[in-house]
Amino acid sequence: MFDEIEIMIKDLIFPKQCFSCRTWGNFICSECESGLKVQTFQRCIVCQKPSLSGWTHPKCKKRYAPERLISIFDYHSKVVSSLINTGKSGLVPEIFSDLAFIAARKIKIRDEQIWKYILCPIPQTKSKARWRGFNQAELIARVLSKHFSLAVDNILVKPKATRQQKELNKEQRASNLRSAFSVSLGPIPKQVILVDDITTTGSTFLEATIVLKRAGVKSVWCIAIAQD
Ligand SMILES: [Zn+2]
Ligand SMILES: [Zn+2]
Repeated sequence: MFDEIEIMIKDLIFPKQCFSCRTWGNFICSECESGLKVQTFQRCIVCQKPSLSGWTHPKCKKRYAPERLISIFDYHSKVVSSLINTGKSGLVPEIFSDLAFIAARKIKIRDEQIWKYILCPIPQTKSKARWRGFNQAELIARVLSKHFSLAVDNILVKPKATRQQKELNKEQRASNLRSAFSVSLGPIPKQVILVDDITTTGSTFLEATIVLKRAGVKSVWCIAIAQD
């Protein structure tokens, strides 16, 4: 209830305008939604070459690599990049929720066991999150959570300095030292979908996956709203 009132008041103060055709009402109106440039092919996160449905090629598979990468929009499309950049620099969190809502409906996942997975946003450092006031990956994860009926769990944290080594088991200790990311306390799920706004070389996802798999995660998929 309060959320709804808050959203209505925000819309009155900062009315939404379509980034493409400039009509009022939404960041992307329903007419321009179909014009958002989607990825023409999915790719393997390890070699970056085309791969059916984004599965990591059998020859590229490594123990600590993700099983799959799904990216929806082409970041080189002007509307997509201006939406994301305005969302980040203009501090407009609603852009990410709206974009994720459109993206979620474009993700075609059939007969695969997505219901076993837990969504995990790529974390930001505390200072960055404080400055921006939100983590866009988390906003996207929340929209995907509703769409696919999956739980969101902030299994990864950043930076590593906040955790004490003595609290961790052997695998967790190794990953804690090794990477910018570490796993949070609590049970570790077996299947995780990492969520971020943009992926370029995939290095953030690759690094996060190493940490998750060393902590006991068996399968990692990665979802990015846009591919740079
Ligand atoms: Zn429009
Ligand atoms: Zn490959």
